[in-house]
Amino acid sequence: MILYKRAVDISGFVKKNTHVRKSIGFVPTMGALHQGHLSLIQQAKLENDIVICSIFVNPAQFNEQNDLRTYPRPLESDLPLLISTQCDLLFLPSADEIYPNGLNSLKHYDLGYLENSLEGRLRPGHFNGVVNVIDKFLEILKPDRLYLGQKDFQQVKVIERLLQITRQPCQCIICPIQREESGLAMSSRNIRLTAEQKVHASVIYKTLSFVREHYKKYSLKELQSHAISMVHQAPETAVDYLEFCDAESFHIIHNWNDAEHIVCVAAVKVREVRPLDNILL
Ligand code: AMP
Repeated sequence: MILYKRAVDISGFVKKNTHVRKSIGFVPTMGALHQGHLSLIQQAKLENDIVICSIFVNPAQFNEQNDLRTYPRPLESDLPLLISTQCDLLFLPSADEIYPNGLNSLKHYDLGYLENSLEGRLRPGHFNGVVNVIDKFLEILKPDRLYLGQKDFQQVKVIERLLQITRQPCQCIICPIQREESGLAMSSRNIRLTAEQKVHASVIYKTLSFVREHYKKYSLKELQSHAISMVHQAPETAVDYLEFCDAESFHIIHNWNDAEHIVCVAAVKVREVRPLDNILL
């Protein structure tokens, strides 16, 4: 695996390879890698000549300084994991490399209602920070395919919107959610949960599975309030939201007939950690 820290160097490598028509798959991450990230790399390896992974804890997408400060950065264990998946290139830029003029020079993208609904409403500016960094990465790396996890469903929709706005000829590949044995969706932030809190957090997937089995037996409202109370039966949990959305447009729906494909999305606080999860119905 080759490690690049400077945009000019990795984009030089990429240009040489696209001239000889090698396809490029790109997996953006914030590091603290787990099987969820590795599954994206493995999928990208199957479909591309060259796979690039980035590790960049993007300051522009954090709306809490404490979260940014305490975000895990275990590079020494990430590197062997990347090598074991036969990732070809790692892009590991500094914040100055990506934002040479600082965070005050961020672009504003018109993300429409996605910007202010659910995660966007609870984390103002978060998605604008996400698309700023992804747009820069796409400009530098010019990948053919971009690999994203279904776990961050709203983020996928936001990045699809970015690709529409910027008309980048890059295909989004959405990869399934990887879970712990308990059903808890893998996440870098799970490191901050104690073993006991992880057991409590596993109620999220149990609830989403219940929702998938029982939807349409109840009205949407009835199932929603039942699901919220199921989560609250586990200690130390507080539902930020549990909503049903049109899986294509991501508009919140209020009746089962409002959308053909439905996704149930949830964010639940477990003490100071806030796992996200979703299930397609
Ligand atoms: P992050 O490092 O959290 O920014 O995530 C980088 C990429 O990995 C994003 O596209 C995530 O959606 C994806 N990802 C994170 N956790 C999982 C998971 N449990 N299963 C599948 N993909 C994931």
